[in-house]
Amino acid sequence: MADKPEIIADDVVVSLAYKLTVDGEVLDEAGAEDALQFLQGHRNIIPGLESQLTGMKVGESKSVVVPPETGYGGVDKDSIDAVPASEFPEGVKPEVGLELEVKDKEGNEMYGRVLSIQDDKVTMDFNHPLAGKELHFDVKIIDLRAATGEELAHGHVHAHGHHH
Ligand code: ZN
Repeated sequence: MADKPEIIADDVVVSLAYKLTVDGEVLDEAGAEDALQFLQGHRNIIPGLESQLTGMKVGESKSVVVPPETGYGGVDKDSIDAVPASEFPEGVKPEVGLELEVKDKEGNEMYGRVLSIQDDKVTMDFNHPLAGKELHFDVKIIDLRAATGEELAHGHVHAHGHHH
């Protein structure tokens, strides 16, 4: 069993309490009881946040501002596309603002939002909802532990010993 790590470095399992604020609105938060667990250095979280956590200790707090470039990226105009209404899944009626999960040609799942509808043409935005946004994180380090060999091999945390 490896020693308990003192500071955040690559291959350390971090329990993080955080609050995410975008445009002055709190979008997501996790406290000490439901802290986010992830494996540092394996891109489990957005790079702009991960890099700012390096070297932090248990109990330490910090405010981190992540620009789009190291967050969810910029808004890509090519990710806004017109889709025939006939290609919508059965029973789904296209409506402005509707969000749905769709599969691209390679079978990758992605989220799209309906921007506008004209006749049978539905304009969809497949950008991440937080693309182009500056992210404000208030973080607190709840716990640190060494990763197991299996976790390192998989590149993610196995919570409570069971696999997912
Ligand atoms: Zn695994």
